[in-house]
Amino acid sequence: MVKGGYSQILEGLARGLDIRKGCPVAEIRHGGDGVTVVTAGGEEVAGDAVLVTAPLGVLKAGSIAFSPPLPDWKTDAVGRLGFGDLNKVILEFDEAFWNPELDFFGAAVGGCTPGEDPSAVRGRCFMFWNLHRFSGAPVVGTLLSGASARAAEGESDAALQAAAMALLERIHPDADVPKPRACHVSRWGSEPFTRGSYSFVA
Ligand SMILES: Cc1cc2nc3c(=O)[nH]c(=O)nc-3n(C[C@H](O)[C@H](O)[C@H](O)COP(=O)(O)OP(=O)(O)OC[C@H]3O[C@@H](n4cnc5c(N)ncnc54)[C@H](O)[C@@H]3O)c2cc1C
Repeated sequence: MVKGGYSQILEGLARGLDIRKGCPVAEIRHGGDGVTVVTAGGEEVAGDAVLVTAPLGVLKAGSIAFSPPLPDWKTDAVGRLGFGDLNKVILEFDEAFWNPELDFFGAAVGGCTPGEDPSAVRGRCFMFWNLHRFSGAPVVGTLLSGASARAAEGESDAALQAAAMALLERIHPDADVPKPRACHVSRWGSEPFTRGSYSFVA
């Protein structure tokens, strides 16, 4: 975990380079002499070669057109590889009420609220991450994986916050669990520039 975020590393590496933000690549023309990258705004940038580091989810979605199309062996590999989802619900409180010594905690209770079908909510808030431990801020994050991560893409922040809070209350039956003052939810599967989180061999 890097305090202040990984962007600090990138900012250092990017110093002095011509980095253009806010201009997604729509098309890559290749073959013959060099390549031409065409942005969504219609700007054309010519070069000797192009290194494509867009996420697998973006390649799978076909968001970048290749002219001529990439060879079958490459598009087959892009198609075969899986791109899964992992989402987070981050909750900020006025003060930490959980055990500050733990890195992670959770509860094998088969759901956030009593009576849920465990197989229907598998992966939902399966683990809490004590972010207070490294940041000093009263923040805890919980993870949603697999089908629960995909389901979260279509759920409201309020519903996800309520699920996380219900489980926090079950884990801390003797604590006066306060309302969070802020909640942030990731939805990587819906982000047009990621379309998922982790690749896997499928
Ligand atoms: C939920 C999650 C948690 C993680 N936690 C950690 C961690 O704690 N520690 C760790 O070391 N790693 C972690 N990773 C892994 C790490 O984030 C990745 O390995 C790393 O970001 C991959 O870098 P990358 O440059 O290959 O791809 P990315 O970081 O995905 O960068 C791809 C870039 O391409 C851009 N892009 C997409 N489409 C276009 C387009 N059409 N035109 C132009 N640009 C485009 C995107 O905006 C993005 O900036 C985590 C990953 C996930 C999903």
